[in-house]
Amino acid sequence: MNIDLHSHSLCSDGTLRPADLVARAVDKGVDALALTDHDTVSGIEEAAAAARAQGLQLVPGVEISVTWSKRVLHVVGLWVDPTAAALCDGLRWQSETRATRAQGIGERLQAQGVRDAYERAKEMAAGGNVTRTHFARLIVIDGLADNEGQAFDKYLSQGKSAWVRSQWASLEQALAWIHGAGGRAVIAHPSRYKMTHAMMRELLKEFREAGGDGLEVVVSGLDRNQIRHWGELSKRFELCASRGSDFHNPDFPWIELGRLPPLPPDLAPVWHQLL
Ligand code: AMP
Ligand code: MN
Ligand code: MN
Ligand code: MN
Repeated sequence: MNIDLHSHSLCSDGTLRPADLVARAVDKGVDALALTDHDTVSGIEEAAAAARAQGLQLVPGVEISVTWSKRVLHVVGLWVDPTAAALCDGLRWQSETRATRAQGIGERLQAQGVRDAYERAKEMAAGGNVTRTHFARLIVIDGLADNEGQAFDKYLSQGKSAWVRSQWASLEQALAWIHGAGGRAVIAHPSRYKMTHAMMRELLKEFREAGGDGLEVVVSGLDRNQIRHWGELSKRFELCASRGSDFHNPDFPWIELGRLPPLPPDLAPVWHQLL
């Protein structure tokens, strides 16, 4: 089975409608897909309906921004009930934090020559959560950077001129929302955090002790050694292993739905008895 447990739609910073994302997953040979938009479950209903019609297993998910030890982490919730009250309340709070931050980023970018930055980012998000990716696209459209990566490097990454610090959910809150909604909690793309080994071990220990379930071991862009490294860490901290492309849009052909190495066979898959 081709299982991809991390993807985005235009309900956050993806570009495809949830139904079109599902159609693309089917086309790419994916059997089970998790929709994990940033801090929202608003696309799940549409994705689930499309998945039923097309014979794909849709895993209802969410990617929650977390503040841990003054850093930002992403925790993916899988098999969450998108109607669970505590999860919905928590995500509403996160979305408000996003809206406030977006105004701050907009002001900073406006001062640097991106006209109507906040209004245009909000319009681009089309009712979904506003993310830094939307601002990155604007920066490129206005010619202040050649591509989105450069827009992050120059303006949007931590410490850069349009960076705004926010207080996201705590690890404990994110776990409570996910588990309260019947889901499993997974630390997303661990290699993307600028952390020492010691810090990463501390995070995994704390996450496990707080009831966390899994670690994303197979992620787009990792080589065989990196996958082995994260697999060993998942075993050491008694976490299940997950596999996710983190697909956002069809414009970057090096990240595609379901196009990832398989999970190493000695790991405990997070989907055990669920798929
Ligand atoms: P946000 O949650 O609004 O802070 O935005 C985070 C999103 O920005 C991530 O999920 C990525 O999709 C995107 N992102 C973060 N850093 C980069 C980068 N260096 N280059 C391109 N996209 C990035
Ligand atoms: Mn994203
Ligand atoms: Mn992420
Ligand atoms: Mn993601």
